[in-house]
Amino acid sequence: MNNKTPFCCLMLLGVFALTANAQGYSEKNPYIYSVQEVEKEGFMLLVNKTYRLPEGFVPQNLERADTKLRCERENMFLNSTALDYLEQMFTAAKKEGIDLIFFDGWREESLQRTYYVNKIAEKGHSLATTLVAPPRGSEHELGLAADILSTAHRMRDGHFALTATGKWLIANCWKYGFILRYPQNKIEITRFLFEPWHYRFVGIDEAAKITQSGLCMEEYLLKK
Ligand SMILES: [Zn+2]
Repeated sequence: MNNKTPFCCLMLLGVFALTANAQGYSEKNPYIYSVQEVEKEGFMLLVNKTYRLPEGFVPQNLERADTKLRCERENMFLNSTALDYLEQMFTAAKKEGIDLIFFDGWREESLQRTYYVNKIAEKGHSLATTLVAPPRGSEHELGLAADILSTAHRMRDGHFALTATGKWLIANCWKYGFILRYPQNKIEITRFLFEPWHYRFVGIDEAAKITQSGLCMEEYLLKK
């Protein structure tokens, strides 16, 4: 593997992010990536409330998941490379008696908008925006985020972290290129509540480094 390319990309992303901050981009005034920037950053693209995807963005290389692993419903998709690693994760978990379910993968922008609008109507703006990303601000739209639960616990809530499956995922996800994206101790930085079911694919090398660093993705990229 060529180690030079990802490193250069990370450096560029750090520049993007720092430049965006310096120019006053924020959740209310987000930075919008170009399609070229999205393609250049690949698995390490930072997507959040401040760094958003281009309008009408549809990721390349999506693959249907239900022929490979246990899914919550039909027609679930994920980036094909991420899906290969997710399949390995599911197989490894099964060997240890852990039954995983792929609960949510790629979402269209229109579906993310529906989730967002409905959650605001249900919970009010300030709470809702810590629970659901705005349209074009979700990693699910990027095709690199997987919500994973278990047959015994099918609710996306904090209690999942206390189950054997939740603990297994937190301890082992990095071996398959995924990171726990919204840790409990990083809420002020990620601006999301703890989500022990939401995992982001970044590739094995970066997942190992990020997990070992104890940093969330925002911190990790800016310190590069
Ligand atoms: Zn999620």
